[in-house]
Amino acid sequence: MNDILYNGKSKNVFPGPDKDSLIIRYKDTATAFNGEKKEELKGKGKINAAISNLIFTFLQEKGIKTHFIKEIDETSILVRKADIILVELIVRNTAAGSFSKKYGISEGIELKNTVLEFSLKSDSLGDPMINISQITAIGIAERKELSLMIDMAEKINILLTDLFLKAEIRLIDFKLEFGRCGNEIVLCDEISPDSCRLWDLQTGDKMDKDRFRRDLGNVMEGYGKVLDRLKRII
Ligand code: C5P
Repeated sequence: MNDILYNGKSKNVFPGPDKDSLIIRYKDTATAFNGEKKEELKGKGKINAAISNLIFTFLQEKGIKTHFIKEIDETSILVRKADIILVELIVRNTAAGSFSKKYGISEGIELKNTVLEFSLKSDSLGDPMINISQITAIGIAERKELSLMIDMAEKINILLTDLFLKAEIRLIDFKLEFGRCGNEIVLCDEISPDSCRLWDLQTGDKMDKDRFRRDLGNVMEGYGKVLDRLKRII
């Protein structure tokens, strides 16, 4: 595939067969801490593509609009071309990661309500947290678009918490990205162990990118288990 449009940390983007589509190819590269830690993990692209494709198909069947059109091969997908909204939306059910660190709450403490956090998509600024009035003030998105994203995130959280529970996995937190597609807001990017915290329901073992971030070992084993369990229930 030639004419690369965008060389991302974990995915590359190529032109699609028509002007309204793109091809995304998952890479084996794992990065953390804004690209400071980087490693090739053989098979990661294939596993993340498979997990994300299962989840996007599941969400679409439940009425969530997404960019996903179809799988092309084991690491490539065809998607609707979208104008990416430059904020990430993090959804938290259980304290972990930066939330635990920032507020001094032990990892694993169940939160009394779902926490939603926006952060600016900017590697050079380290993805700083940003609030709704700041997002609208600098013209990244309109309030009604943000409301729609929040509604979608809450629905996705309910659907995925239930889905993962059936796979004996606790959905601790995850990150979503959205884009504008015609007059719709659609879910973009990926949902995989790179973008979610997933803990084994019985043992509490981590099955996500924290295995890589924290040098816990057996990273691909964790990801592989997530895929196997999802395949069994979807
Ligand atoms: O690091 P933090 O605790 O804020 O991450 C919350 C969730 O969002 C985690 O599941 C993490 O994997 C995901 N995330 C992400 N991409 C980022 C920041 C966070 O996928 N740039």
